Formats: sequence, structure tokens, C-alpha cells
Amino acid sequence: MEVSEGEPKVEALLHFTVVLAASLGIGIEPEVALILSVIALLPDIDVFFGFHRMYTHSALLMVMVGGPAIAILSFFGLGRFGLLALSLALTHPLIDSFSDYTLLLWPAFRKPLRFDFSLKLIGASPLKISSESGGRTKDEIQNPDHLEGPLATGRGVVISIVILFPFLLKWVAA
Ligand SMILES: [Zn+2]
Repeated sequence: MEVSEGEPKVEALLHFTVVLAASLGIGIEPEVALILSVIALLPDIDVFFGFHRMYTHSALLMVMVGGPAIAILSFFGLGRFGLLALSLALTHPLIDSFSDYTLLLWPAFRKPLRFDFSLKLIGASPLKISSESGGRTKDEIQNPDHLEGPLATGRGVVISIVILFPFLLKWVAA
């Protein structure tokens, strides 16, 4: 499936900015908010191994690995940080699954899932959940050339500036 203008993919920049704005919004210090935003980008590490939205994008696997990790972190007084990092990192596969097929529930559910939601003024178009691959072969799904969106687009930069603008103002005014 070609990346066409009518079907925009979620860019890496937005995963970063959404988590940054959410963290700053609940009063997390900027340094920690930056670390949380970088952690939320980590699922895209799979791109370097030739896939995207594969195993590192499984929300279920994140919870299975993150749960025990949080338990260990809590012994060092970092339980709250771990819980925040996991909840914010989960936004990544969730947002991606609204963009294209994502291995969201692996290993419990081995097919990539995709959600579509389109609210229109006229005519009902409810939430659509599909687990098909749009006629693509496994090789095509794993080929990031067919799945990869840009790291950042003009639209993403503008959205990022807008959602971070209140925090920029606050820092300038401080
Ligand atoms: Zn991703």
C-alpha cells in the first residue's frame, strides 16, 4: 500500500510531541518529560530491523514486560516514573493502530490490527476494526518502504508547535 496523501501515516515527531505535551500538562519537569517522550519513540526501533509496527508495537507485550519492570523500579523508588513511562509509551502503538496495521495484541492475537474512525456530518461511519492486511503479503507488511511515514511533515511541525505553545509561553513568561 503506497503512502498517499489521502492516507497519512503518523509521523515519529507526533509520537514525541503528544507525550511531551501530556507530560508537561500534568506538571512533570521538562527534563523528565523529555526522557518520557524519547521512551515513547522507542517502539520505532523495529524500523532498523526492517519492519514497522511489528513486535515492539505490541501493547500487550509492553504491559507484560513493563509490569514486572515497574515492580523492580518501585524498589528503587521509581515506580511512579515506570508507570508513567509505560502509560505514555502505550500511546505509540495505540496511535499507530489508527494509522495502519499494527501488531497490537501479539502474541495473544497474531494478526496486525487496524482501527478506523470517521465521524462525518452526513452519514454514519462508525469505528471499523480490521485484522486483514489489505490484500498485502507478509513481506509487503514487513517492508518499511510500504509502511513508513516521514519522520516529520510540515503539518506535524505545525501541530507540534500549537500543542506545545502554552508551555513555550509559560517558559518565556517565567
Ligand atoms: Zn511506530
